[in-house]
Amino acid sequence: MHIEKSPEDYYNKIFDLLEAHHNWFRSCIPLIASENVPSAAVREALMSDFGNRYAEGWPGERVYAGCVYIDQVELLCIELAKKLFKAEFVDVRPTSGVCANLSIYTAFTQPNDRMLALSIPNGGHISMGKKDFNGTAGAVHGLRVEYFAFNKDEMNIDVDQTKKIVEKMAKDEHDPPKLAMFGGSLFLFPHPVKELADFFHSYDMFVCYDSAHVSGLIAGGKFQDPLREGADALTLSTHKTIFGPQGGAIVSFEKYSERIKKAVFPGNTSNHHLHSVAGKAIAFAEMLKFGKEYAEQVVRNAKALAQALYEKGFKVIGERKGFTESHQIALNIVDYGDGGTLERELEKANIIVNRQLLPGDIQAGRHYTHPGGLRLGTQEVTRLGMKESDMREIAEFIKRVIIDKEPTEKVKRDVIEFRKSYQKIHYAFDKMLDAYEYVKIRG
Ligand SMILES: *Cc1c(COP(=O)(O)O)cnc(C)c1O
Repeated sequence: MHIEKSPEDYYNKIFDLLEAHHNWFRSCIPLIASENVPSAAVREALMSDFGNRYAEGWPGERVYAGCVYIDQVELLCIELAKKLFKAEFVDVRPTSGVCANLSIYTAFTQPNDRMLALSIPNGGHISMGKKDFNGTAGAVHGLRVEYFAFNKDEMNIDVDQTKKIVEKMAKDEHDPPKLAMFGGSLFLFPHPVKELADFFHSYDMFVCYDSAHVSGLIAGGKFQDPLREGADALTLSTHKTIFGPQGGAIVSFEKYSERIKKAVFPGNTSNHHLHSVAGKAIAFAEMLKFGKEYAEQVVRNAKALAQALYEKGFKVIGERKGFTESHQIALNIVDYGDGGTLERELEKANIIVNRQLLPGDIQAGRHYTHPGGLRLGTQEVTRLGMKESDMREIAEFIKRVIIDKEPTEKVKRDVIEFRKSYQKIHYAFDKMLDAYEYVKIRG
């Protein structure tokens, strides 16, 4: 007989699942390049009453009463972000990286304008995608997306070919792009901002750099410094290589501030997420204190993991260039299966990674669900205190699953044992709670 679930059954089940997730993650190796684990301090800010309030608008010019303390926290958040990115202007209200990008499109382009970005297999993000693929730029703001020329061997934007593409659009078609969007989701090496910014500006293009993935590395003084290299603005996610809650921000110059502010509110948000702003402020303070040391270790770990995987026989992308200068590693795994299947095999062994379209995959008939690659990131395991020698152990676990095809149950047992020594968050002021500790505040 089918027994109807009571409201209490649902209620209890949800908490059971939340707790089960925490317990699982305690014994996993988290290698998804877009994720991180926030400190207990950030989690405390997220639980605060800020999350239940409305502000709308800029501190001091709110649409709602009750913002006395909220305004002060948001101003501190802005002050911290300005220090972190050595910037004149920051808007911390975008609720995500996509929302930050959409605000840039709103502020600096009109629907039907052309913009330049990386294609998805070459590392572009869906928020810079064409309308045909339901990308935000095309489907939401009506931009016509054109692609940077990309050099697969260098895993980077081809400067000379890209200039030719823009010259042709301007001279032959009288239709140059209005916006160039650097940055991407598969992002191994710094982009040629310095080499292209003046050229783009000579066509009156706005130059944005989507630092969703690498914002923490930039803040830590690694990777590159786009605002000094000629970019007009950075968009960020605050939770990939920064320690934050999930969210976004825009970093730019005073001269663009009014346009950006209007595009964020009322353009793309009514109320922003005030608990998230408090969380971002805490995360920025942590970055200001520990960011340099953290970013250096993240990149050292990425290089060590890439090298170890290479030595174990994996095809690691970017070999000629030293594999990576960021937190990411990309593997071509077509010799062993496809990205979708191997992602699931690794998950059974408590190794959490994601599949990745690689340059050339579409031409080879591979697609998003079964691509030729896997993408790994070292930002979260670094936050757990792991160092280069741990990366060599992780490479061995991955090899045992993918190359040796050992039973995943067996590898999982060893992963759980390995993970026991890494339960605390590093690069944080407060280390009382375990990284994935489940905090119960209900009675
Ligand atoms: C992750 C990502 C985003 C989106 O960020 P969200 O905070 O998830 O909205 C935007 N751009 C790039 C390049 C990304 O990788």
